[in-house]
Amino acid sequence: MHETWDSIDEVRAEAIVCCRCPLCYTRTHVVFGEGSVPARLMIVGEGPGAEEDKEARPFVGRAGRLLDELLSEAGIQRSETWITNIVRCRPVIKMDHGLRNRPPRATEIQACEIWMEQEYRFVAPRVVICLGAVPAQALIFRDFKVKEHRGKWHEGRNGIPTIGTYHPAYVLRLRGADRASIEREMVADLAMARTLLHHM
Ligand code: URA
Repeated sequence: MHETWDSIDEVRAEAIVCCRCPLCYTRTHVVFGEGSVPARLMIVGEGPGAEEDKEARPFVGRAGRLLDELLSEAGIQRSETWITNIVRCRPVIKMDHGLRNRPPRATEIQACEIWMEQEYRFVAPRVVICLGAVPAQALIFRDFKVKEHRGKWHEGRNGIPTIGTYHPAYVLRLRGADRASIEREMVADLAMARTLLHHM
């Protein structure tokens, strides 16, 4: 029961056996958030990929390694943040040759909302960063478009200053000068969160 959750550990204990949506039938592990509690900065991704599903930890695959690099360029240490996802089980499509990642469905985001609510409660972030349009549409506003709305902070969920930026998996798909310029924009967005926190 909700009211009996007195700590993030108690929330995690219940979340890791969650079966509130059909993703529980295809996942290997629930990928709950990790990091500091409380944390002044919370970072929210879209959903676990194959590596995360295997290791039960957010952002540990290629996208996670790039995120770590860009965070450190922006002067942010991952260990002082809380990192989570808008859904905590890997969304997949079955293909002939195995499983492929897909974006989470609105019903899955809704089912996972109870865990987001508890993360906001215990992590108590002062600033939130959304990686990609999916978390930004859930936590900032429905029509959020990264290209159009990144680069500034918005009043997000619970009135908290929230920044939407690129998803590192998108950045990984770019090459050459495009990749370099998008990485620079992403580092600037991450650094904006740091500056905001500095003035709080
Ligand atoms: N992509 C995400 O959105 N989240 C992860 O945890 C890993 C990759």
